[in-house]
This record gives sequence, C-alpha cells and structure tokens, in this order.
Amino acid sequence: MGFLDKLFGKKETTSNVKKQTNDKGILPLREKQHLLQTSSPVCDVCNKPLNIDKSFFVPNSVFYSSKEYRLWYRDHTMLLGPDYEARLRMMEMNDPTEGSAVCEDCIRMFR
Ligand SMILES: [Zn+2]
Repeated sequence: MGFLDKLFGKKETTSNVKKQTNDKGILPLREKQHLLQTSSPVCDVCNKPLNIDKSFFVPNSVFYSSKEYRLWYRDHTMLLGPDYEARLRMMEMNDPTEGSAVCEDCIRMFR
C-alpha cells in the first residue's frame, strides 16, 4: 500500500510539473539539469534549496521580463529603492546563463 501511494504521489508530481510548463520555454528543471553549476541548486528568486523534480527552468528572456518577478524583486530589495529597474537590467546583461532555476512556489510569477 505504502509503495503504491509513493508511486502515485510521484506520478502526480510529474504531471503537475508538466502542466505548469508552456510554450514560453519553461521546462521541468530535470530536463535542463546539465546546465546547473552546482549539485545543490537554489531558487534564483527566493534562494530556497531546490527539489529538482519539482522545479523549473525559465529562459532568461522570460525570467527578466516577468512583471510579477520585477515587482517581487522591488519589494524584496527595498535598499535599492527606485533603482531596482536599472539593477535588474544590469543583472540581465551580466547573466551568462541561458536561464534561471525557479522553485515550485515562485514559478507562478512566470506563467
Ligand atoms: Zn523560489
């Protein structure tokens, strides 16, 4: 019974991840695992340690242009004040990666 529950739970997780991906290029992070620089990745938004099976790869063009993310960034970096837009542009220009890793809680900002 416990084993079946586990199997069912796993299937559920996978389909949830798939459901939240879309044609903007958001993918299950598992499919882009080779791009990760570290074996213990954290969310690029909230810095929480990532569960790779429940997390997402978000292309940088989508990541940096998300209005919700920009507002989140503004609200969580109050020290930067009105310069947050400029700071975000700097981050985007200096970002050498092709995308960002985002946890299951933060992915709603990019859908
Ligand atoms: Zn997060």
